[in-house]
Amino acid sequence: MSEAALASAPAPVPPLAARAADTGGSPVREILALTARPEVISFAGGLPAGELFDAAGIAEAFRHVLTQAPQRALQYSTTEGDPGLRAAVAARATGRGLPTTPDDLIITTGSQQGLTLLATALLEPGDVVLAEDPCYLAALQVFSFAGARVVPVPTDDEGIDPAALDEIAARERPKLLYIVPTFQNPTGRTLSAERRAAVGRVAARRGVWIAEDDPYGELRFEGEPVPWLASFPGAEDRTALLSSFSKIMAPGLRLGWLRAPAALRRACVIAKQAADLHTSTVDQAAAARYLETTDLDAHLDRVRGAYRARRDALVGGLGEALPDGSTWNRPQGGMFVWARMPAGYDATALLPQVVRHDVAYVPGAPFFTGPADPGTMRLSFVTHSPEEIQEGLRRLALTLRD
Ligand code: PMP
Repeated sequence: MSEAALASAPAPVPPLAARAADTGGSPVREILALTARPEVISFAGGLPAGELFDAAGIAEAFRHVLTQAPQRALQYSTTEGDPGLRAAVAARATGRGLPTTPDDLIITTGSQQGLTLLATALLEPGDVVLAEDPCYLAALQVFSFAGARVVPVPTDDEGIDPAALDEIAARERPKLLYIVPTFQNPTGRTLSAERRAAVGRVAARRGVWIAEDDPYGELRFEGEPVPWLASFPGAEDRTALLSSFSKIMAPGLRLGWLRAPAALRRACVIAKQAADLHTSTVDQAAAARYLETTDLDAHLDRVRGAYRARRDALVGGLGEALPDGSTWNRPQGGMFVWARMPAGYDATALLPQVVRHDVAYVPGAPFFTGPADPGTMRLSFVTHSPEEIQEGLRRLALTLRD
């Protein structure tokens, strides 16, 4: 080919990796984009209440580390994370009944990164991951990027069904069980201690890793806490526990943590080196300073009190907003209520009409990996005040009851 022909006929670039083409965007994020108008009362997004962020306390912590130790706060740092922050997390986890040392922990860029690190460290293309059905969507995206095959495990009103889990684990030979045992996203359900014990036994018997994802456990405003799955016999040596500062401080900090057995943790540290070297030094230092100088539990008590009132407003008004014959749960914490409209109602098909009245929810269907229940929806109760929630429910009734 002549020089001139070469210049005029550029070759197309190669295609995207199949994993990029195969992994869809989160439908929840797409709906969120539609409901970003300020007049919309949205039960859709999982946004913690911004007016309850301790902005002054966090600002003071940043001011302190940037003025007292700027060269450290602005420098590169270790992949495992800020020693002070890891010590604070270890003390809190130990206080919640799971003996933990700073060395057991990696600070991650949100708990979302913890999921990616686990997938990188554990999963080969074609490996089977078991997940509750329905399940947190962005975890499914992580497993899809890793080339894993996600197999749904049935749940009921109390969470995952251990007998079904055992049977599916025997059949599918999974490498990993992904589970959100406390105030699950999307259902708000919490797994009892008995079921956690049973899940631990299944994991041990069938030789399965567990990823216990717990961003919501500290948002309990009623009832007795249930110990982490990671503390039950059988689960202890095979559970990676993930959590986050997103719901107890602020999600914009992008700070989370991962507690894992030594060999898995070391593999995650190497995966994190490749991903981002380390989580923001200054953000970690400020969070460590904040935890040193603030009574986080007093702050959380305020958040929990507000969330309880918002849960009550939502649950108390759903009967007037949803069609007759609908059912819903009443979680003792977290951020989400899961509702089911009777046969014949399709939450996805109804959403565009609902949004026209300046209110929104997330349809339940996208969260299912098995057959979807079209009547289901996830409603977040934390973002709006009780008064706004009541107004949102009135708007919901315009479509769903009239
Ligand atoms: N896991 C679950 C179950 C979640 O609901 C979320 C966020 N909504 C995350 C992980 C990620 O949270 P973050 O990265 O902010 O810690």
